[in-house]
Amino acid sequence: MRTRRPIPLCEPSLGGNEALYLSECIETNFVSSVGPFVERFETAFAKRTGVSHAVACSSGTAALHVALLIAGARSESVVPVSTFTFIASVNAVSYTGARALLVDSESATWNMDTEALYDHVDALSVRGEQLPAVIQVVHILGHPAQMEPLLELRERFGIPIVEDAAEALGATWTAGQLKGVAVGAAGDLGCFSFNGNKVMTAGGGGMIVTNDAALADQARHLTTQARLPGPAYVHDQVGYNYRLTNLAAAVGLAQLEQLDGFLQSKAAIATRYIEALGSREDIQMQPSASWANPSWWLPSVLCETKQRDPILRRMAERSIDARPVWIPAHLQAPHRKAQFLGGAVAEGLAARGISLPASVSLSAPDQESVIEAFG
Ligand SMILES: *Cc1c(COP(=O)(O)O)cnc(C)c1O
Repeated sequence: MRTRRPIPLCEPSLGGNEALYLSECIETNFVSSVGPFVERFETAFAKRTGVSHAVACSSGTAALHVALLIAGARSESVVPVSTFTFIASVNAVSYTGARALLVDSESATWNMDTEALYDHVDALSVRGEQLPAVIQVVHILGHPAQMEPLLELRERFGIPIVEDAAEALGATWTAGQLKGVAVGAAGDLGCFSFNGNKVMTAGGGGMIVTNDAALADQARHLTTQARLPGPAYVHDQVGYNYRLTNLAAAVGLAQLEQLDGFLQSKAAIATRYIEALGSREDIQMQPSASWANPSWWLPSVLCETKQRDPILRRMAERSIDARPVWIPAHLQAPHRKAQFLGGAVAEGLAARGISLPASVSLSAPDQESVIEAFG
């Protein structure tokens, strides 16, 4: 077999103003967390997601940690979170001292089964038992979750919603109560990641968005060591060093300028996978609900269980970096003892799922190689 250039899962594309903005940081000596790009990035990001406030953080995980804290998660509280997710979503719950309630997926979107959670919380309230302090919903692999049951829980019981939108920047709801709303802007606080393999990158980084000025102030405060204004170092809480650097914000801003193009490329890549694989009996494409516009961060498929690992092996032999989808958190060592709600949907996805290469720079011949590897 001829040697091929490896096909990465999702590599960044740095063809915009990244170098220009970075050299501006160096020329002006603003490289750390004070500097004009942090604010420019926050302002542009808030505008893009249709919210009034955005607070840049050092990572998506840090954003989740702080968002959960200011939404009210603490020791002795319970925070329902999707079990089918990257482990950072659940680790962030543990950092606050709260207990995670791991919720199974629904087949329709692979996201948290929010109707099952609704029924669970409703039953807790009937029995007079402790209600969740915060609900954390993850928009997995870029597909928006079904929010109505969660919005109703917030309405009935005042339970705040934190959205983990790390994989879903640019996704929107296209029908229903949230029609036209950007993912991340539907709950009380939304969190994003700018890790190297996400929809866009800042080299590393995250963002908290909210429409609530008081929550935004708290996020800013907690991410900067909870230091009070003034020249002295006076602190009123245990804070964190979670702010984004000006260097990273410079890259983030340059990437954000290119976001629409990135999303178009991802959608085109997904469409090509759907055309090539969607009609096969032995393969099922990642769902795309009629009411949702996904980010198509990593288009994914379900194979027959016994075919999954052979397909992955074939891809590895051809230097194609496809990956099994997330292993549910309730099967991972740190969270095995957490309370679990649901059945075996997430486990089924984990046994059958493959996330496919989807760099915005993926060439048509390279995508053909991925498709051919299915045999
Ligand atoms: C990437 C990711 C995170 C964490 O973001 P980092 O910036 O890597 O800390 C959190 N949740 C989900 C669902 C993710 O995919």
